[in-house]
Amino acid sequence: MRLWFAVYLKKNHLHLMFVLTLSKFVNMQKLFFIASFFVAAFQVKAQNADSIFIKKLADEILTNGKAYENLRHLTKQIGGRLAGSPGMVKSEQWGMIVMKESGAEKASMQQCMVPHWVRGGEDQASFNVQGKKVYEKLDVVALGNSIGTGKNGVTAEVIKVNSFDELEKRKDEVKGKIVFYNYKFNDTYINTFLAYRDASQYRGQGPSRAAKYGAKAVIVRSMSHAADNNPHTGATRYDSAYEKIPAVAIGLRDADKLSKEIEKSKVTVRMQTNGQFLPDTIGHNIIGELIGTEFPKEYITVGGHLDSWDNCEGAHDDGAGCVQTMEILRALKAIGYRPKHTIRFVLFANEENGLRGGNKYAEEAVAKNEKHLFAMESDAGGFTPRALGLSGSEEQFQKFLSWKPLIAPYGCTEFNKGGGGADIGPLSRALKTPTASLNPDSQRYFDIHHARSDVFEAVNKRELELGAVNMAALIYLVDKYGL
Ligand SMILES: [Zn+2]
Repeated sequence: MRLWFAVYLKKNHLHLMFVLTLSKFVNMQKLFFIASFFVAAFQVKAQNADSIFIKKLADEILTNGKAYENLRHLTKQIGGRLAGSPGMVKSEQWGMIVMKESGAEKASMQQCMVPHWVRGGEDQASFNVQGKKVYEKLDVVALGNSIGTGKNGVTAEVIKVNSFDELEKRKDEVKGKIVFYNYKFNDTYINTFLAYRDASQYRGQGPSRAAKYGAKAVIVRSMSHAADNNPHTGATRYDSAYEKIPAVAIGLRDADKLSKEIEKSKVTVRMQTNGQFLPDTIGHNIIGELIGTEFPKEYITVGGHLDSWDNCEGAHDDGAGCVQTMEILRALKAIGYRPKHTIRFVLFANEENGLRGGNKYAEEAVAKNEKHLFAMESDAGGFTPRALGLSGSEEQFQKFLSWKPLIAPYGCTEFNKGGGGADIGPLSRALKTPTASLNPDSQRYFDIHHARSDVFEAVNKRELELGAVNMAALIYLVDKYGL
């Protein structure tokens, strides 16, 4: 029984004293009943206080929110901001200014070396069907981190494969050709991130797996189910065992057209790309802090990544996560919240083609022996919030689940096992920090992901703000109750 009291009544010393005094006069059964009454009353009181606080936080974000206007500036005034680019430098300076404007008690730039890949010009491709005089244009974009074709380009016959299995079966036909991976985004997954994970291996490994059999270049079907023809870039990863060959992604309508032609006749593709790596350069994580009043040396991290691909404005990926992060800071400060733990608001560097920012953040945390209570990331677009995901112990998950009634009214009605983000992954692996993600509606994300259509206009103000509300509520609860 003593243990029971300790667990349930430790937060209310007066009630405990009262119950213990009573225990001299009543039997244990009655005591149990009385104690339960106080516990229940205490919990209801705490839940009411939490729901009132969260409502206040939500009202602040939904009426005075700056996330949307901040996103407008980031996308329209700065635009694409790939690691090493002038846009990266501008966005870091902007991030420092907005962090301070949002009320950061401390704002700093955490330096890290970042890769510096440049596209180097316009990517071009066209195809010719045997027997026809003309080449028809294809809408392509070189894959991030890929090498260019050189100024003469690459011209070769195309071999289409629908999967890696087919590549292996037809490996003897590959030499000297351009391999076209026509692997389809799986429409049957309701969570489109599963389709992305499944298909993106063709972008990541495709070029080296084709180079292994002597291919001259690679074309990858875009990882999308969009109805338009915009090609979607993203990083490729060369295997150092094989020659590095040029690689482009192709829009879906063109992919279908090319596929049909190849089935009928011999098709030649001409492509020219100009990608190259320049020496690594200096980038920064931008970190704002609200200092903890009780545990200033214990950290809660919330963030998104500041870099984006160069062929778009990076509005959903991940401008949205960045402005939501700073909105949570602004709103907590605006309503006068003083956190128990130090909350760090982080705009991570170089998620797209290196993850150096996330790695640096974890390295510093380990080197300084920091205690990290929790980390959360928004990197799935600024769409209507639907779910929160948590990676942690079963006990942590149960605690997280108990907060669902407080957060669900704002949109996240699903609380799932498994959550985090690329940038907070290294921290989680290094320090076993529990991590969470905001999982908004995923149906439209891969229509625009890494494509020229990822622009400010594709983001809805209300949806963006609601994402920030759900995140802010979880951050508040973790700060108040721990995890
Ligand atoms: Zn992203």
